[in-house]
Amino acid sequence: MNDQTQAPAPNAAPETPPQHVYAPCPCGQVPESLLIEVAQDNKVARAAGNCCATWYVEFLRGNTVDQQVITDRATKAWDAAPRSTTP
Ligand SMILES: [Zn+2]
Repeated sequence: MNDQTQAPAPNAAPETPPQHVYAPCPCGQVPESLLIEVAQDNKVARAAGNCCATWYVEFLRGNTVDQQVITDRATKAWDAAPRSTTP
């Protein structure tokens, strides 16, 4: 007599953060990830879309070497960069 009671909802969602949707690249595609170039002696790093690896934004990484922080800054820079809306 234990059917239909307390069926635990199969929580199929593991702890994966939602996929970030990047702003479209000037090449017309939406990159799935960013290629980040960090030069050791330069506080300015570059991030290019993986769609074409041609367009890039520069952003200030400062002194951090924390990959998560750098990725976060790159993502913000990419999304905030002005881009032409002309097709
Ligand atoms: Zn592109």
